[in-house]
Formats: sequence, structure tokens, C-alpha cells
Amino acid sequence: MLLKVNLKKIIILRRYYVNRAIIIMVIIIRGLYVHIPFCEKICSYCDFCKRVPKNEQMIWDYLKTLKAEYETLKERYQTIYIGGGTPSMLNVEQLKYLLAIFKDQKPLEYTIEINPESYTDQKGLIFKAYRVNRVSIGVQTFQERLLKPLNRQHTNKDVFFAIKNLTEIGITNISLDLMFSLPNQSLADLKADLAIVKKLNVKHLSYYSLILEEKTLLYQLYKKGLYKPNDSDFEALLYEQIIKNLKSFGYKQYEVSNFAKAPRYHSLHNLLYWSLLPYDAIGAGSFGFDGKYRYSHTNNVTKYIEEPKVTKTYQDDYTLYQDFLIFGLRKTAGISILETKRLFKRNPLNDFPTLYSFIDQGFLKYENDWLKVSQKGLFVLNQIVEVFI
Ligand code: SF4
Repeated sequence: MLLKVNLKKIIILRRYYVNRAIIIMVIIIRGLYVHIPFCEKICSYCDFCKRVPKNEQMIWDYLKTLKAEYETLKERYQTIYIGGGTPSMLNVEQLKYLLAIFKDQKPLEYTIEINPESYTDQKGLIFKAYRVNRVSIGVQTFQERLLKPLNRQHTNKDVFFAIKNLTEIGITNISLDLMFSLPNQSLADLKADLAIVKKLNVKHLSYYSLILEEKTLLYQLYKKGLYKPNDSDFEALLYEQIIKNLKSFGYKQYEVSNFAKAPRYHSLHNLLYWSLLPYDAIGAGSFGFDGKYRYSHTNNVTKYIEEPKVTKTYQDDYTLYQDFLIFGLRKTAGISILETKRLFKRNPLNDFPTLYSFIDQGFLKYENDWLKVSQKGLFVLNQIVEVFI
């Protein structure tokens, strides 16, 4: 059956206020994700596609493959996101080579992830020279004793230096990646993290709970009885503190785990994922979506270097509909029922009548065409979205 939904035609309307006049710009959005799988050390909780490089040559071979793969693409991208792994562990020459690959692009949002210990002022200047305009810093926590069991390598001094230096060179759109429910983390530890977050006053925060994944060191410790994850009540208590405090610091929660000082700092690239918009992806372990097919690359870096082929999976209408609803409810703005009907010719309130009981219980709200999660519902969102599966 041919897909009826043309997700490539979905557009984003952005409002710009110029001298009080509202200019509505129509932007057709497409993103590019670039994966750099190399890390100096492996974090105990990490199940991303990553590895310690065998040697410098391996990194160069990888970058050359990445360039060749990029050259097969013919799109203009409004967002580019270079993630990892640890993109900032590339040396200066490798970083220049990487960013030069995309020099023909003029994205609205151009993000690179860094780990604080491998950031230098020279690397910051290279970001600037290649028009990177957003940096996401992997912090996780400011309690240095909690970083050790995670096998993270940086200190707070590294984080503060990166923020100060990036700001000085004019890259002010900074996001911090933070985690909660860490091994041995107390409520006081979380409050101490939040007090520092308040002072740093960056534009964007991602705050994820630690998830115990198989094939991680933490999981092996758990199996041996050497690590016990927090119970869900404590995790909910921490999450509640995060939401409450960040709100009082002037952040607006626009997605379950994401907070921004203003709408212009929302992650446009992540918005593509959550809104089922198309994005390409290059690099080992990366996933792309073209509106009809999802595709993936091997996690094996050596195999990727040998042959960067993709495996494609066709997405039927119903699968896309389910994804649209699941990702849509993660956004605090929720899902427009009219837009859902326009795209999929379906009404989720008819298809999934259980949604009404969530509305009655106060977990969901249905107002002016928008179905959205309530403050109370944020804590049970995983259970709510199970109705779509
Ligand atoms: S969490 Fe990031 S830095 Fe740590 S091993 Fe995974 S990809 Fe590397």
C-alpha cells in the first residue's frame, strides 16, 4: 500500500516580531545528523554507538568515509547536529576536516556536542569559523564524586571554562546535558546541581534520568548485586524538583526532558524527531528518516569504514501515526487533533478511547483542539503512550 502521508510537506511556521509587525515565515525543515563514535573512555551507563579509537588512522579513515557518505546526499539542511560519541575529542586538524565537509550548508541551527575535558579555546574558534551556532555540553552532574562511578572524565572547572570561553567568542546558544537518579545521588546533590544551573543561566537544558541499559558496565554491576537503581518514587521526587526549580529559574519545559529560556532556544533539530519530520543521518550507528523509510547504519565502526551502507525499513501509515502520537505527547504543546486528522485521516480520540479516562483522571488535557500531557501526567507518560502501541 502506498503511503498517503507526505511528511516531507510538513512545514514549520515561525513567528518573528519586527517592530511589532508579525512576520510569519514558512520554513521547510530538513535536518542532518552526523555521528562521531569515538570516546576517550567509556561511561558506565552508555549504550550509544561508541568506541575508543584503535589509533589516529582509524579516526581519519572514519572521517573520510563520512565525507564520502555526505557527498551522496543532495539536500539543503536547516539543522545540522554533530553528536557522539565525543566530537570534541577530535584533534584540531580532524575537527577542521570534519566541519569543512559541511561548509556548503547554511543551517539555521548548527549544533555540536562536546565533553568539557576535551574542549579548548582553539576548538571553540574552529566552531565559530565554520558557523557552528549551538553547543551542547555533556555535564551530567556538578557533584564530582558522582561523576566517578559514571566514568566521566571532566571537572567542574572544565565545564565553567567551556561555557565562559564559548560565550566570549560569541557562541551563546549553549545547552547542558544533565542527568538525575544517578548512583548514590541524594536529593541534596540534585538541589546543589540546580543551584549551579541557576547561576550558569544557559539558554537550554536537557535533563534525563539515568536508564539502566543492558550491555553497560552499570548493568553488569547491577547483575552482580553491586548497584541498585533508585526506586520510581525517589526518581519522581527528583524529577518534580527539577521541573519546579527550573520553572522558577525562568526555563519553560517544552518537552518531557527539555527546557529553554525562550522558544527561540528550543532545539529545532530535536523538534524534527518529535514531529516526524525528515532528517538524514550519516555515520556509524546513526538513524535517518525520509518520510517513508527509517534507515540505520551498522554500529560497528570498522564495518562502517569498509562500507557505509544503510538498512531501510518501510514505515506504513499506521506505524507513522503511532510514532506521531507517541512523540507528539512528549512535547508539552501536545498534539493538534485537526492536524492529526489532516495528516493521517484518523482521530486518536476515536481510535484510543482510553485517552478519555486519562483526561478524566487529569493526566491529559484536551483544550482548543490540542491534546496534551498535564503536569501530573508527565510522571506517567510512558504508561499513557502505551495505549498507542
Ligand atoms: S556517554 Fe558519551 S562520552 Fe560517555 S561513552 Fe557514551 S558517547 Fe562516550
